[in-house]
Amino acid sequence: MNKNIIIAIDGFASTGKSTLAKCLANYLNYTYVDSGSMYRAITYYALVNNYLPFNNRNLKDFFKVLADVKLNFIFNENLGFSEIYLNNINIEKEIRSILVSNHVSSVATISFIRKHMVNLQKEMSLNKGVVMDGRDIGTVVFPNAELKLFLNASAEVRAERRHSEYVKQGVKVNYEEVLNNLRSRDLDDSSRTDSPLIVADDAIEIDNSFLSMEDQIFFVKKILKDKFNL
Ligand code: C5P
Repeated sequence: MNKNIIIAIDGFASTGKSTLAKCLANYLNYTYVDSGSMYRAITYYALVNNYLPFNNRNLKDFFKVLADVKLNFIFNENLGFSEIYLNNINIEKEIRSILVSNHVSSVATISFIRKHMVNLQKEMSLNKGVVMDGRDIGTVVFPNAELKLFLNASAEVRAERRHSEYVKQGVKVNYEEVLNNLRSRDLDDSSRTDSPLIVADDAIEIDNSFLSMEDQIFFVKKILKDKFNL
């Protein structure tokens, strides 16, 4: 009989983690959790409630309110994936802004915020059958995940992909700004003390600079079949 597994997908910014994760979750009929959207949602909350930039005083206040900030995912039938809600309001669009992108990695360095997020992520996955993507999923959130993937691609290819997404959405932002944001997030994410972005020892690394999403899905489906009979 097939068993439900946990699939952890980590990697640098804009490597296509969430697209791959959504496809695999749909294929297996698993829950998909975009952990990056949780860090983005908390950053958005901190921005609109004037907590940023953090200092010693407002960080203490933020610590007190964090437990009461409600974050949850609701499945959107039309889109075929879950969207994030902050205190019962859909903020899927708001969290993708460049402003949030420019602040999220510094917010994600704060240990009490990470601890809170990791607890929520574990709770969401109690029944297994989960595909979660992020930066510390295979190393910290689910060190025992049955399948760990680590995605990478050159910064220029990633910036190109993210920039064309923005163009399609009608967002005015230039390529250099996108490239600089990716580089600075990669640096912040890889160099932070708490849960830095590193490749888990048992992760399968995929450089997708020259791979299509179809190629990657084909590759992972083969692993699922050969290794897990899924
Ligand atoms: O995945 P996404 O690019 O939306 O994530 C936004 C940011 O959230 C990352 O650049 C990183 O700073 C933070 N993050 C994290 N740990 C995760 C997921 C995201 O620190 N598991």
